[in-house]
Amino acid sequence: MKKIILIWDFDGPIGQINSSYPYNFNFENIEKEIENVKWLIDFLEENKIKCCFAITGFSAENGTYPFCFPDFINEIAKKGHEIASHSWKHEWTPIFKEEQVHKSLKRSKLSLEKAIEKDDSVLGFVPPHNRPMTWVRRGAFSLGDRGLWPFFKMGDNQNLLKLLKTNGYKWVRVSYKNIFMKFGLQQKNRTGRVFKQDGVLILENHYTGFDEVVVNHILTTDYETYTISAHPYMFSLENKKESKKNFLYFIEQLMNSNQPISFVLPSELL
Ligand SMILES: [Zn+2]
Repeated sequence: MKKIILIWDFDGPIGQINSSYPYNFNFENIEKEIENVKWLIDFLEENKIKCCFAITGFSAENGTYPFCFPDFINEIAKKGHEIASHSWKHEWTPIFKEEQVHKSLKRSKLSLEKAIEKDDSVLGFVPPHNRPMTWVRRGAFSLGDRGLWPFFKMGDNQNLLKLLKTNGYKWVRVSYKNIFMKFGLQQKNRTGRVFKQDGVLILENHYTGFDEVVVNHILTTDYETYTISAHPYMFSLENKKESKKNFLYFIEQLMNSNQPISFVLPSELL
């Protein structure tokens, strides 16, 4: 059975404001993202697909819509989808102090669990901006992290793992490329492997979007798991790997392939 793990980065307004493009920020994008998730929830239900939504903790607080939407998060969870933390407010964690990252992990977990009325149900962390991409122990360094280990403690995934364990997280999605991956010398699953390290399940994230490349990869290889990430906001943009058109193509191709394919939640792999 080929297991597809689909993880949506649902940034929410706070995440959009703190994302890479704060100067492009406008209200239309906020509404679009939420509208797209609403459409997605119905589509997934019709097609009996379960996936994971990584959401910023701030969005789960009791506050003003559309900046906070705890009831909507609860609705998503009630449909059987997994809710993961996408940090408190979409911080650039490599340059943060350990204590700040600790608080972000703790607070987002509590706030999301309160919204979905279930203790200890938020088990996964999806780092905002996919940072850090540096993982010293695995030979991966990324200058793009801006805060480089050893000058910045949180600039190394190994230190993030420790904090995740302290805060009761059981899995994390990680993006990194060591020198062998960079030069394509290492035979690898294009969408990333899934393995355990120091008691935390690692879901490598090497693929974003739903284009022909990933569809062919899934249909022509025989890995046990395939991790795909995407942003509901990107649905609205045409000619992007994450467009709605590509998503529909992706689902149709997998469903009509007659191959043993199923969608699973990250926590089901624990
Ligand atoms: Zn994000």
